[in-house]
Amino acid sequence: MQTCYALTTIFVDETTRNTRRSGTTFSRDNISRIMQVQAGFEGQRVLVMGLGSFGGGVGAVRFLLQQGAHVVVTDLRSKTELAKAISQLEEYCDNPKLSWRLGEHSKDDFREADLIVVNPAVRRDNPYLGIAEDAGVPLTSEMNLFWQHNRGKVVGVTGSNGKSTTAALIHSILHEAGESSWLGGNIGKSLLPEVDQIESHDWVVLELSSFQLADLNRIQASPNIAVVTNFAPNHLDWHDSIEAYESAKQTILRWQGKDHFAILNDDDPVVSNWSTNCQRLSFGTTDAGNAGVFQSGDRALIRFDGRTEQIPLAESLKLPGPHNFSNALAATCAALAVGIPTRKIGPGISKMSGLPHRMECVGEWQGRHFYNDSLATTPESAIQALQSFDEPIVLIAGGYDKQVDLAEFGRAIAQRTKSVALIGQTADTLREVVSKLQPSVEIGSGFPNLAGALEWAVAQTEPGDVVLLSPGCASYGWFRNFAERGDAFSELVRERLSSTA
Ligand code: ADP
Repeated sequence: MQTCYALTTIFVDETTRNTRRSGTTFSRDNISRIMQVQAGFEGQRVLVMGLGSFGGGVGAVRFLLQQGAHVVVTDLRSKTELAKAISQLEEYCDNPKLSWRLGEHSKDDFREADLIVVNPAVRRDNPYLGIAEDAGVPLTSEMNLFWQHNRGKVVGVTGSNGKSTTAALIHSILHEAGESSWLGGNIGKSLLPEVDQIESHDWVVLELSSFQLADLNRIQASPNIAVVTNFAPNHLDWHDSIEAYESAKQTILRWQGKDHFAILNDDDPVVSNWSTNCQRLSFGTTDAGNAGVFQSGDRALIRFDGRTEQIPLAESLKLPGPHNFSNALAATCAALAVGIPTRKIGPGISKMSGLPHRMECVGEWQGRHFYNDSLATTPESAIQALQSFDEPIVLIAGGYDKQVDLAEFGRAIAQRTKSVALIGQTADTLREVVSKLQPSVEIGSGFPNLAGALEWAVAQTEPGDVVLLSPGCASYGWFRNFAERGDAFSELVRERLSSTA
């Protein structure tokens, strides 16, 4: 029998021990292979599985080529489908160390690699990863590679909703306050190719998805400052259970040290009950007397480091809606934990005017305002969007069925919209809930594409109305991702504006 060793620093997976088949044990041979790969990538054969569309795969390929590895990129999507990501690697297209296997996977690629960088969206029970593990090939991810090479201090942001906005707000505050700050991770920017430029006194603000956190658990990594915006059931098509999803999210706190900070949402019934190993700060709408930052009317009440003070938060904040006020409370808390003086927090908050696809106003036509909130891929996000307007709303909603409960979303549509165009797999479920609760809401469905849904929606409007794309569901089926869906919407709005100008 082969002797096996647990490789605690890299591969122990506390989160998903029961649900993943990823190796927690490795033979002596495998350990020396991992050490070899860790020591340097020169001449190593590294397989990048899943190029993706959000920068992680591209970042990993760039980094590995810079380090002298032989890189094979494999993706089930075709060259045409991946054209945008591939074009970002144009400078390497003649590099003999880069090769491609697109539109398919080859078992041999998985057996013969020295290391596999797995895209976070790939489920760990993928049969090809099983083949790699049986052959003793170690697995890692772009984020784990970044973590292992990064010298900077990390503010990590996770949560079911509001991660990108909160991470961008924190980065903006740090930047405006004169700190050297980097923004990356799940927000769509891989910092891996730039990791050598990050100094030990720099701050790195990382948006972390549950998939990335599940992988970080294998290397027992948590950030110096962890921010959790909220927790709601999501991605249950990837994580095997709600418990596995929650446990993956909790990686952000699991490996923190005593001098680290955990910043948790007091308003969230799940997150407020998570236990921490370090200095705990809270944020929320109600001040229960804890250390942290709390809403006090239009202001933020700060209780931190023995002092209590207030700042006029609403005055600085350009982002609409109560959810963004909550994100700004979290960001303020993180800035205080970094050591930013209170008076230097406002400028960074007011500098942030919004991210694409998040309540982005993409045009006005004859008194109607069009908002692209394509990133609202969960019911909770779309509900927040519906609560952010006083104007009558004509909504475009629905999409891929992630098997999450849509009843609350249906209720919010019934209460807050005058008409709704339903698209995608979830259209029938939403129609049933809305029509039962509020028969006066006009419902359109059966559209062949987004253009049809938009035309119908516009026909329902009057001057002063808002046309809102806030689907509350993922985009797969009609689109490859939320960005493609949002771009398509913005483009259709622009076409309408120019044709009727
Ligand atoms: P994430 O990165 O977690 O997907 P974003 O900051 O990109 O979150 O915001 C995506 C959408 O989620 C926004 O358009 C908004 O509708 C909603 N949202 C943002 N912040 C929150 C929050 N704190 N709670 C609930 N929904 C939110």
